[in-house]
Amino acid sequence: MKTLKVALLGAGNVGSQVARILLEDTEVLAARTGARLELVGIAVRNVDATREYAAPRELYTTDASTLVRGADIVIELMGGLEPARTLILESIEHGATVVTGNKALLAVDGPALYEKADQAGVQLSYEAAVAGAIPILRPITDSLAGDKITRVMGIVNGTTNFILDAMDSTGAEFSDALAEATRLGYAEADPTADIEGHDAAAKGAILASLAFHTRYALEDVHCEGITGVTATDIAAAKDAGYVIKLLAIAEKLDGGVSVRVHPTLLPREHPLGAVRGAFNAVFVEAESAGELMFYGRGAGGSPTASAVMGDVVSAARRLVLGGPGRTDSTIEVLPVLPIDAVSTRYYIHLDAADQPGVLSKISALFAENGVSIESMRQTVHREHGENEGPGSAELRIVTHRAGEAALAATVKAINGLDVINSVTSVLRVEGV
Ligand code: NAP
Repeated sequence: MKTLKVALLGAGNVGSQVARILLEDTEVLAARTGARLELVGIAVRNVDATREYAAPRELYTTDASTLVRGADIVIELMGGLEPARTLILESIEHGATVVTGNKALLAVDGPALYEKADQAGVQLSYEAAVAGAIPILRPITDSLAGDKITRVMGIVNGTTNFILDAMDSTGAEFSDALAEATRLGYAEADPTADIEGHDAAAKGAILASLAFHTRYALEDVHCEGITGVTATDIAAAKDAGYVIKLLAIAEKLDGGVSVRVHPTLLPREHPLGAVRGAFNAVFVEAESAGELMFYGRGAGGSPTASAVMGDVVSAARRLVLGGPGRTDSTIEVLPVLPIDAVSTRYYIHLDAADQPGVLSKISALFAENGVSIESMRQTVHREHGENEGPGSAELRIVTHRAGEAALAATVKAINGLDVINSVTSVLRVEGV
């Protein structure tokens, strides 16, 4: 039986679980791949650190560069940009197959790294970089290879889903839900990448690239985070039968592809609406297969190690059989469309004076801008209880599909009306 040398870079949350599987499941892995997977070394910063899984002391090294040189398969689980990038490039140059979960690096340098791997004829796999344990990249690239994907919508960031779910179930404001997420370890000390949507955008770029056979980078993704979502938005959405989720959406439209991340209203009965806590899910629509949903843990040492090992076994099988590395298809070159080209339904929440004629003024502005109203609900609030004193009207409007520019012009015009106290929120609606 052939022996394949495996170098592991990093033995943290994920790396230590990968080491455990490689060392404890050698027989099973050999039966599944047709090769012995020999873990030849584990690169870390501190060889004496106490780890969740303690591999034999002699496997640990601080010399990652030498380690990758003799390897058939390099598993990069250090995280960060450097030295991960240089070590992946060195591995590719030496003809090693590379498996990584480094979403931050792929977000910045993915297209360049895929190009290098293509040129060298080696495989670079990164199932763990999107939605942790959930097998989503291989289903898109392999299982659905004979189909045409039309849309992918994913809850791909557990931190923001935890926060939005906590706001939905407890009525908490964003800052309190974030504090709770931090206390429970779901949010990092600096949560910017999660709450501003950058992490979801990096995964959106990967999903769009694989679904639409074109390489997209992070800067191609229109990105809005969840910091502006208020308890009032959540309560109003809930009252109207919706739940607010941060979605990464990659969609094929006339003339190109839209890739975007933003808070989105989903009907509560939509499959993605049922994704609670820090779980992830990806909803795929394809011409022949119809709708598919992939659900599971988006993070965690063991769950993510499962995705990494899937890539390792797949790479080992290919190395046993021989043949060139399978690269992701880039046969199409579909341009990224600006957010203005996207048409969606919108939910608009307004606070207006309770006066005769207000509704007709608002409706007229929608009509003038070519935005058609699907439903409008009004709740009147009075200063001194029911039917007494001056009042204000809370309006919740859902539109039919409208373009971003037309909607923005409508909202601007409404804001200019003297009977409007404030436009409290404008959110896109999907899944209807
Ligand atoms: P981690 O716990 O921080 O572990 C990082 C490991 O890399 C540590 O063992 C560290 O060594 C080693 N390392 C870091 N810099 C190094 C350097 N310059 N030289 C040698 N070793 C170095 O990270 P993790 O949570 O396992 O995540 C690993 C990767 O998986 C990241 O790219 C992450 O984005 C991705 N990922 C993680 C999850 C998750 O749930 N954790 C989910 C999906 C994807 P020491 O131990 O000696 O410090």
